[in-house]
Amino acid sequence: MKFGGTSVADAERLKRAARRIVAAREEGNNVVAVLSARGKTTDELVGLAREMSDNPDPREMDMLLSTGERISCALCAMAINDLGHRAISLTGSQAGIVTDTSHTKARILDVRADRIRTALDLGQIVLVAGFQGVSTTQDVTTLGRGGSDTTAVALAAAVDADVCEIYTDVTGVFSADPRIVPDARKLDVVSFEEMLEMASSGAKVLQLRSVEYARNHGVRIHCRSSFDDSTGTFVVGEQETMEHALITAVAHSTDEARLSLLGVPDEPGAAAKIFAALADANCNVDMIIQNEPLEEGRKAEVSFTVPRDDLRAAQAALEPVAAELGIETIDAVPEMGKVSIIGAGMKSHPGVAAKVFQVLAEERINIEMISTSPIKISCVIAADQVPTAVRVLHGAFELGADGIVAEAPIGEQAR
Ligand code: ADP
Ligand code: ASP
Ligand code: MG
Repeated sequence: MKFGGTSVADAERLKRAARRIVAAREEGNNVVAVLSARGKTTDELVGLAREMSDNPDPREMDMLLSTGERISCALCAMAINDLGHRAISLTGSQAGIVTDTSHTKARILDVRADRIRTALDLGQIVLVAGFQGVSTTQDVTTLGRGGSDTTAVALAAAVDADVCEIYTDVTGVFSADPRIVPDARKLDVVSFEEMLEMASSGAKVLQLRSVEYARNHGVRIHCRSSFDDSTGTFVVGEQETMEHALITAVAHSTDEARLSLLGVPDEPGAAAKIFAALADANCNVDMIIQNEPLEEGRKAEVSFTVPRDDLRAAQAALEPVAAELGIETIDAVPEMGKVSIIGAGMKSHPGVAAKVFQVLAEERINIEMISTSPIKISCVIAADQVPTAVRVLHGAFELGADGIVAEAPIGEQAR
């Protein structure tokens, strides 16, 4: 059972989570619960770091950020003990979560769950601080924003749990962020494949890595509300999903930045150098466009997007490469966003892209970059146009509560 930040935001909610954990235990289950930091704690800790330094040391950042979830776990253990059960809180390190050394976005390499198993055998409820681990060089690491989801899935895999329940502030995974589209439809079941595309397109209800981990280890995720008992959304293998909607969801992000390199020499290896430098700096590059010069010897332009949080690191990493390659300008636009439509049904239906472009054009929304996968179309647009883009696409593809779900050719879809 994993409880997100809003679900443990204050004493009352922490106690509610404690009661829910105890109820699951009393039904006869062994329970491992992963907790997030309370409310906006992680943001506040980031703020504290910024008061100290413009460029905080990543190792120290992780020491700081990991404290938020420890607080939640210790407090919740106290509440559970008062309810007459025995609980033990563990840091990520104590829980055996071993990661690589990339501070602030470490990857889980191994889960050594012996201590958890021993505690469960003693009848204890185990509370694990989410979003953190210990590196192969014995430093505290964190798993990237939203990382408690990944802690939960990794532990579920390690202890061979029946299900990994992700308790959050919405009743499941929706056809779009319900905060932007009030009539978004709750999905009963979504495939790993679609959920991966949604998460990588910004639907932060589940962290991308948690979905990858669940798919790779066959962990069943049940994403549900921490405020009521309703059934949420199951994220499962494709064979278990019954219907194939043409389009399942619209996802968005307003946290992108675009970098454009002007005057890139038109020679083999230039792009390799640019993107190797970004990879070494651990920057996640998303979309890439290279405009090849028409005439021999002219220079090229390379544009790409990175998460806005990575912009500074990307610019720093590019400076030496730019000097080496004689790149004229590095142009940065920090306020970019992305809107994506996802659906396994689009694999076999032409015309989806045309409809997306038309719908956005009718709103006079300029598309700066496009990328596609067999089940996704993403468009980079200005960040302030994202909410409108999400709403019009959600409406145009009739994804709302009364919308169609059956697979139908695009022309026949409108009713
Ligand atoms: P937690 O703190 O529980 O981890 P998050 O804030 O990380 O919760 O994720 C839940 C939020 O994700 C919701 O409040 C919602 O605004 C947002 N969200 C974005 N896209 C979706 C979607 N398609 N379905 C449900 N929630 C979504
Ligand atoms: N507290 C961390 C964050 O805010 C991790 C999480 O909540 O999953 O990103
Ligand atoms: Mg989250």
